[in-house]
Amino acid sequence: MKPFNILWLQSGGCGGCSMSVLNAESPDFYKSLTYNHINLLWHPSFSEASGDEFLALIAAIENNDIHLDALCIEGSVMMGPLDSGRFHILSGTRRPMFEVIKSLSNKAKHTVAVGSCAAFGGITMAGPNPGEAIGLQYEGKQIGGLHDSSWSDKTNLPVINIAGCPTHPNWVIETLIQLSLGELNKQCLDSLNRPRSYTDHLVHHGCPRNEYYEFKASAVQASDQGCMMENMGCLGTQARADCNIRLWNGDGSCLAGGYACINCTAPEFEEPGHSFTETPKIAGIPIGLPTDMPKAWFVALASLAKAATPKRLKVNAVSDQIKISPGQYNEKSNHE
Ligand code: SF4
Ligand code: SF4
Repeated sequence: MKPFNILWLQSGGCGGCSMSVLNAESPDFYKSLTYNHINLLWHPSFSEASGDEFLALIAAIENNDIHLDALCIEGSVMMGPLDSGRFHILSGTRRPMFEVIKSLSNKAKHTVAVGSCAAFGGITMAGPNPGEAIGLQYEGKQIGGLHDSSWSDKTNLPVINIAGCPTHPNWVIETLIQLSLGELNKQCLDSLNRPRSYTDHLVHHGCPRNEYYEFKASAVQASDQGCMMENMGCLGTQARADCNIRLWNGDGSCLAGGYACINCTAPEFEEPGHSFTETPKIAGIPIGLPTDMPKAWFVALASLAKAATPKRLKVNAVSDQIKISPGQYNEKSNHE
């Protein structure tokens, strides 16, 4: 059986998505590839090949001597300074990395952006962006990056954006398996070309703080156990990802660890215009409400819920540990 050849290259990123895939469990990243006949031709951190061997591999792909099924790019594409790409030259050559990425992308059957930097520009694009970082087919929310909006791969798919900062190891593995089986089509991608296998969910789904959310029992400071939407900047009701269903490292999520969801799978998450740990409000009402609920309904439901909040949740929401357990329920004092 012909292996499904993938090549993984990095440009303007921190390497966190590679670290993330190394945390895949049951099976691990390498076993997942092997079991599914996916052949990792080269990875900057995982491969033993020398620089010369790597450059020979690139040449062989560009000369059509080795077939490339999926080009995986981690990190944003560095166009600076002044669109010359000289800020990132492929080591051992004089070629700007963006040119190499473009050339290989046009040879590969599929192009995969691993993480939000490669997808949309991400953290590397934040602020004045002196490196002129962009995504493979997006520049922030705008379609059109290294490739323009009309670009598609040999199977008529756009760049597949496995967004996340970092991305979840299983989002990567699952997408590569779908591609290797020829089972990923346009219907499998959302409006930002992210795999719907994880973006058909909200981070809010399965959050361990859901009971607090239902009664609008909110955290007011870091380490509180309550819902982090009202005061602590949580965007879980808008963020498209299954982080609280498909846990990280088999066990946790940002919310379980005490951190608000900052919607890292979305373009321009890196510059919310305020602190990540604050909820911007108008007249005391959070600006970022659940995307699929009319604002008036939310406000009405929230005031009803607040009127009915059990004492257990009110107290525990602003504590760093359970102060009142469900077993301590006392009807008389419950709504004090
Ligand atoms: S902390 Fe965030 S994700 Fe969790 S219940 Fe509250 S709004 Fe939803
Ligand atoms: S919970 Fe939110 S910020 Fe955390 S990894 Fe998931 S999408 Fe990103």
